[in-house]
Amino acid sequence: MKAMSQENSLARRLATVRAQLEAACERAGRPAAAVTLIAVSKTFPWEMIRQAYELGQRDFGENYMQELRRKEALAEDCPGLRWHFIGHLQRNKVRYWQPGFHLLHTLDNLPLAEMLARKATREGRKITVLVQVKLGDESSKSGVEPSALPALLAALAPLSSLEVAGLMTIPPYMVDPEDSRGYYRTLRELRDRLNREGVTDPEVFRHLSMGMSHDFPVAVEEGATLVRVGSAIFGPRHYA
Ligand SMILES: *Cc1c(COP(=O)(O)O)cnc(C)c1O
Repeated sequence: MKAMSQENSLARRLATVRAQLEAACERAGRPAAAVTLIAVSKTFPWEMIRQAYELGQRDFGENYMQELRRKEALAEDCPGLRWHFIGHLQRNKVRYWQPGFHLLHTLDNLPLAEMLARKATREGRKITVLVQVKLGDESSKSGVEPSALPALLAALAPLSSLEVAGLMTIPPYMVDPEDSRGYYRTLRELRDRLNREGVTDPEVFRHLSMGMSHDFPVAVEEGATLVRVGSAIFGPRHYA
């Protein structure tokens, strides 16, 4: 009985999030296909990922390498499932980066980029990354200051095995999602300016990873191409 009602509530929550996503796209005059919903599955058991997969969900986000590796090993019979790494990637974990991992959202320093690039070159493939930007959160250790972005991007350019596909941000938590709007707009303007000024190539540097459970519709209105939604899909997280 319990498993059954859990499954039903996941289906209901996922349907609600999808409807909210579509409505936000419509308000913004953007096609629904312009935004990818990433189901953030950290701390949730494999069975719930599996249920979401059965419901058509394909993109999943994880924060911890050990947990991701454990879950990835279970996903062999889930063709098309894409893993996004959205946590802080420690340099001593780079060696665990698997060819099947789709996108790293949190690149924020050159030494990490160089390690990833070396690994990708050795393995004869590309690793796709987003640069994490710190916007208005002095307390956050992660992310690059906007003023440091052009220099970092210039240093990344020669690393041909890295594809830098856009920007990601986690703004300070705001109770009212409207208060996040300015951060999301700033991230979009940053991407557009870098492309306009020729620092980056708009064909490649196109993604904006922004928006979480409580504010993703606002992020979509401001141009998000990837939204990272956890608890609105899976329910409250239980840390061990
Ligand atoms: C956990 C997490 C999310 C999802 O948070 P919810 O509030 O549960 O939607 C999104 N992005 C990052 C970087 C996270 O760590």
